[in-house]
Formats: sequence, C-alpha cells, structure tokens
Amino acid sequence: MTSYQHILLAVDFSEQCLEIGFRAKDLSERYHAKLSIVHVADNLPIIDGMDGQIMPFDFDLNNELMQLAKQHLAKVAAKLDIAEENQWLVIGSPKLEIVNLAEANNVDLIVVGSHGRHGLALLLGSTANGILHHAQCDVMAVRIKEN
Ligand code: AMP
Repeated sequence: MTSYQHILLAVDFSEQCLEIGFRAKDLSERYHAKLSIVHVADNLPIIDGMDGQIMPFDFDLNNELMQLAKQHLAKVAAKLDIAEENQWLVIGSPKLEIVNLAEANNVDLIVVGSHGRHGLALLLGSTANGILHHAQCDVMAVRIKEN
C-alpha cells in the first residue's frame, strides 16, 4: 500500500472543525503528507419569496463576506501550521468544489466531519455523504459527537 501524499481538510467553520483538523494534521504527520485546507462559500442566489424573482448579486457584501471567510480560514490554518499557499477559499457547492479541488491537486485523502445523521437528513444527503459518493480518492469522515 502506498502512503498518502496530499491530504485535504474540508472545514465549515463549525465548533468542531479544529478537532477534525487535528485529526487531519496527525495523519499528515504520520504519512509525511502535504496538508491543505479548504472552505467553500456557498453562492446560492437569494430568492424573493413573494414573486420568486432573483435579487441582484451584491458585490460589496460578497467581497466583505469573502474577506471574513479568508481571515477565518487563515486563523484555523495557523492553528494547524498550514501555509498560506495550501489554503483554499472557493465559491460554490461545497461537495462539488471539494471533489473538484481534490482532483485538480492530486489529493489522495479528503478529511471531513460527519454528524452521523439518521432518517430524513441521511436521505437528503449531507456534504460528507456527497463527497464520499463523488470523490475519486479516499475520504475519511471524523465522527462529530453530538452534545
Ligand atoms: P455537513 O454534511 O454539512 O454536516 O458537513 C460535514 C463536513 O463537511 C464538515 O464537517 C466539513 O468537513 C465539510 N463541509 C461542510 N460544509 C463545508 C464547506 N462549506 N466548506 C468546506 N467543508 C465543508
């Protein structure tokens, strides 16, 4: 078995993202693998509920949100010793963008958190499920304990 060379940690900035991050960091050290981090900012159009019209894209607001997300990503990355060139902030659908980024950068392991949902949420599919089903590489889901 060949060892992992490039591990991609996907973070949603939830409370548990550092716990998941430390697991990814531990693996990267054991395998002497490169560790990258990604956060995907969803770009869902805002729909006006009254007549279904799509509201105009607010560039200023989006720029501001992206700056905040970048700062947040840098803070998490700093705690995990991940250099700036290995930090990715992408706009789009989390599961698609994470899978695409992994393929484009020869990632061989994606690390995500998993809530271990049941019932309807499982049927609808979580981000972790989506990545697991679409990724070409290995995916590790770190179980997040519910409080
Ligand atoms: P979820 O399926 O939404 O509960 O998320 C499970 C895991 O998917 C999270 O712990 C993250 O590892 C990853 N994830 C979810 N949303 C995002 C996002 N917007 N950007 C990066 N990773 C995400």
